[in-house]
Amino acid sequence: MTEPYPEQRLCPVIWGHFDDNGALDHWDAHLTALCPHCGQRFPVRDDMLGQQIVCPLDSCGKALQLNPFVVDSGKNRSEA
Ligand SMILES: [Zn+2]
Repeated sequence: MTEPYPEQRLCPVIWGHFDDNGALDHWDAHLTALCPHCGQRFPVRDDMLGQQIVCPLDSCGKALQLNPFVVDSGKNRSEA
C-alpha cells in the first residue's frame, strides 16, 4: 500500500548502488532526504527522524518534516 505523502513530509532514504548486472553493490553510508523546496538531497542523521528540521542547504532553509521511518530504496524502487 503506497500512499502519497504530503509534500513537506519527507521519507529519508538509504540509496543503494547497483553494478552493471543489477546486483546490489553497496549502500550509501548515510541517510538522505530530498528537499521538496530546493530539490536537493541532504544527509539525514538517525536522530533527525520524525523531527521537524530546517533544510540545511544554502539559499533554502525551509521547514521540513521528516518521516519517523526509513525507506529502503533497494526493495522499494518506485520511480515517480
Ligand atoms: Zn531545501
